[in-house]
Amino acid sequence: MIYLDNAATTRVSEEVFEAIKPFFCEQYANPSAIYSAAGRCMAAVEAARRQAAALVGAQSNEIYFTSGGSEADNWAIRAAAEANQGKGRHIITSAIEHHAVLHTCKALEKQGYEVTYAGVDENGVLRLEELERAIRPDTILITVMAANNEIGTIQPLAEIGALAKKHGILFHTDAVQAYGHIPLDVDAMQIDMLSASGHKLHAPKGTGLLYIRRGVKIGSFIYGGAQERSRRAGTLNTAGIVGMGEAARLARERMEENARRERELRDYLISRVLHEIPYSRLNGDADRRLPGNANFSFRFVEGESVLILLDQQGICASSGSACTSGALDPSHVLLAIGLTHEAAHGSLRLTLSAENTREELDYTVDRLKEIIKRLRDMSPLYEDFRKHNRTEAEYVQ
Ligand SMILES: *Cc1c(COP(=O)(O)O)cnc(C)c1O
Repeated sequence: MIYLDNAATTRVSEEVFEAIKPFFCEQYANPSAIYSAAGRCMAAVEAARRQAAALVGAQSNEIYFTSGGSEADNWAIRAAAEANQGKGRHIITSAIEHHAVLHTCKALEKQGYEVTYAGVDENGVLRLEELERAIRPDTILITVMAANNEIGTIQPLAEIGALAKKHGILFHTDAVQAYGHIPLDVDAMQIDMLSASGHKLHAPKGTGLLYIRRGVKIGSFIYGGAQERSRRAGTLNTAGIVGMGEAARLARERMEENARRERELRDYLISRVLHEIPYSRLNGDADRRLPGNANFSFRFVEGESVLILLDQQGICASSGSACTSGALDPSHVLLAIGLTHEAAHGSLRLTLSAENTREELDYTVDRLKEIIKRLRDMSPLYEDFRKHNRTEAEYVQ
């Protein structure tokens, strides 16, 4: 199997797996209990908290472990909205957020909040002037992702943080794709709340965190026991948290090396695809881009068909169009950067980790060339296009 879907989830790394193993059958005490076996579990949780905090320049008592990125996004946005409704009911986000943010905003709209969805340019970079124009006296929250999960575009967080600060507005960022992959600093970027997830970083699924800057007053999202300083109830997921801490430690230690390797692989992949597959384009920003992300559109093909045929060759990939409720909706991200419905449907996302190899990419591009040729040969649209618009010489390039 060739795994090129690391933006969807990652393999748990061997080091992380070793680190979490003792916490299932041996050190299984509830970390909140008072006996010493529990104390040892709590010590492991607190060590993980320090590692998780260090990755973004936070204090460990500003980290709250959650069940994942979705919970952290829901919590940050809903709790900030509730805590600040005396000041106003206006929220600003971007048009290309993850559904964990967009659907939370939609839910708040039903409760009387107003949301502005600031646009992005053709590469997916937030239009800062549009963001600034959207700010009103009753704006209580700006929530903009650190890096996009589909096209990999990295947002100007420090500029957004400065704008939020200037206007006295809370700034939350969904950093699920960025955390541990690119440098982040909550102080330098003036971030008040930050969501991260473990499973996008070689830790187990079902682990995540919300960073909440000291002094930011938002309530609980999950009510119950007094865990996480009474801000997030529920028995601590010791193994998951330890895994997240170890993944954070490794990411901090290896970020530069991993990013360099991923960038090298990514640029090789992009170069081969754009040169060898006609009528292909790269979606997202060429430079302001996550090290492991490549996203393409191919004219005259359906992304879903490409995925199925890649799967038959043992290659795991993803497309920009998600099949929801029986209807094929093109990706909101690809539409927001100006792609036509046709181009958005013909998109393919390949996301790498430092574990991928050049041989895997060579195999993938070779298969992809065959698959796209085969699909185009069956496409009436393509046949029509060739008859009327282009000569064979132009197609062969
Ligand atoms: C994966 C992802 C999430 C959701 O995180 P989970 O831990 O799977 O709940 C949120 N935002 C972005 C940008 C993501 O890529």
